[in-house]
Amino acid sequence: MIRDIEEVLSQSTHMVAEAPTGFGKTITSLYPTVKYAIAHDKKILYLVRTNSQEQKVIEECKSLGVSAVALQGRRNMCPLTNEREGMRGGNAEEISMLCSKLKKDVENGNTNACPYFANFLNDPEQLFNFIKEGHTAEEVYAKGIETEICPYETTKSAMKFATVVVAPYIYFLLPFMRNMLLDRMQCELHDLILIVDEAHNLPDFAREIVSDELSEESIERMETECLKYGNRVIRDVPCADVAEFLRETIYRLEKYVSDDEGLVPQYALEEELSELMHCGLNDIQKMAMEMVRYGMEIREMKMRKRELPRSYIYHAGNFLMYWKDTYSSDFIHLARLGENPKLEIFSLDPAHITDIIRNVHSSIHMSGTLILENYRATINLPESTKLVRYPSPFPPENLKIIYATDVTTRYAELQDNIEKLREYIENIISLHRNTVVFFPSYALMHRILEDMHISVDIESRKMAQDSLASMLQKFRMKGGTLFSVFGGRISEGLDFPGKQLEIVVIVGIPFPRPTPKVKMLEKYYDYKFGHGWDFAFREPALIKMRQAIGRLIRTENDRGIAVILDRRAAQFTEEIKMNPSKNICAEIQTFFNEEKGEEGRHRDR
Ligand code: SF4
Repeated sequence: MIRDIEEVLSQSTHMVAEAPTGFGKTITSLYPTVKYAIAHDKKILYLVRTNSQEQKVIEECKSLGVSAVALQGRRNMCPLTNEREGMRGGNAEEISMLCSKLKKDVENGNTNACPYFANFLNDPEQLFNFIKEGHTAEEVYAKGIETEICPYETTKSAMKFATVVVAPYIYFLLPFMRNMLLDRMQCELHDLILIVDEAHNLPDFAREIVSDELSEESIERMETECLKYGNRVIRDVPCADVAEFLRETIYRLEKYVSDDEGLVPQYALEEELSELMHCGLNDIQKMAMEMVRYGMEIREMKMRKRELPRSYIYHAGNFLMYWKDTYSSDFIHLARLGENPKLEIFSLDPAHITDIIRNVHSSIHMSGTLILENYRATINLPESTKLVRYPSPFPPENLKIIYATDVTTRYAELQDNIEKLREYIENIISLHRNTVVFFPSYALMHRILEDMHISVDIESRKMAQDSLASMLQKFRMKGGTLFSVFGGRISEGLDFPGKQLEIVVIVGIPFPRPTPKVKMLEKYYDYKFGHGWDFAFREPALIKMRQAIGRLIRTENDRGIAVILDRRAAQFTEEIKMNPSKNICAEIQTFFNEEKGEEGRHRDR
């Protein structure tokens, strides 16, 4: 991998790499890039999805003796967001706007506006020197509190001295954040080497950034805001009434919903709204613009009072304008039912936002589960991109994967298979091995649980983070059986080394539900690449299964067996090395008995 990366860097191209967990991707990618960056005056931006991944990168940079700075959003690094009631719960844009205002006030002599910034201006060195030693964002934040110097501003100012900056995806993907970052790093885009960790998350993340939604709850807040700030008349209608019409429009658009979401045709929203408001279609956009202007005034008023510049009128106006602006083949518009009905603008194509990656010197995209060619195409990396799959460094006999041939969760056959699935699961649990059972949905999990008489721990949808943590702690200490769902908090990112986890059961192939959104993704990729089903259904299922199986082997000594309870697993034997099994429990027992034999042989030696 080091040699491959060296080649990619020297040719200023890109690379997509799949390497299993435990491979050492972080140090392996950093070593050649750091060497190259120092020799060729480049900078490295290491993009991570979660804050805990940042820590690992900082540790490895320390071990390489290279300067690294970890950046997180102001929400995590601004002490005032914890201290001042009015700053709590803001989004990145709101906190950034308020921060700019407070900094201006400090520069104009009002040091109370933000004492952390005032101290940063007076004594930047103290915290700065601490950051240069190489610390995680959490450590810098704690030191910032201790020294009363702004951790965020000091981190930003330290970036120009760092060879490696570690930051969340959003700092590169959003243009205004990227410009700030490059400016602070004193680096041109073409001098940047990008490393993307857990890259399989990047396409969805990029889609989300350009998607938006307007919920009934947000409209209710808009109504309250209108009444609080003068209920201005917008194109002959009091603003609070506009909110009422918007709410009514959401209900009217429910006619397009079957199940719990539906595609809204172009101009349907404008037609409903204009009928309710007795105005022309063009008036809707004019009204939206006026709402944005009104909202901006409210935001400024709030900023003057040093409150978060949040305006629901502004958001609703912006949403209406964006709704119309996104009438193109790569966006869809949806109505959703549920506790909080909403309208959604969804971007089908992440390439809008990831295209910029082509302009960096080189980019290295890494993950334990990637469909290389699909990933390259989805984010529109050049054809010359190097695609490589690295094998597991661990003994292959430590992982066994089998699948049942007489059962399925296929929708049309599910009813006839419930009993059989339950029987399989009960039999596996009765082997008393530490087991996690992953279901494709909470609904199926509860259906299976209904007639089960074995005690298991369950990760529920609304479980608070601390309850989940204590349940996992108990599982790690005492073992047992845990029921969870794909896409929940256990299937990705959690480690269960050693004997903490011995069996993973996958109940049914976790194909996404064929919702209108997923079907449109399929259509879009059919049109773009000619095999939409692979992108929309097959790939997400494969990634989820690999992630779940990946929980089993984290070190060279781990051993584990994965059981897929679905005969459709046979479609994935090219990507996942597995065998059909007629006697699952017997195979599990044999697998673990072999382990005893191995241990015995080791002892004899
Ligand atoms: Fe927060 Fe620092 Fe901005 Fe002050 S300068 S508002 S402490 S981020």
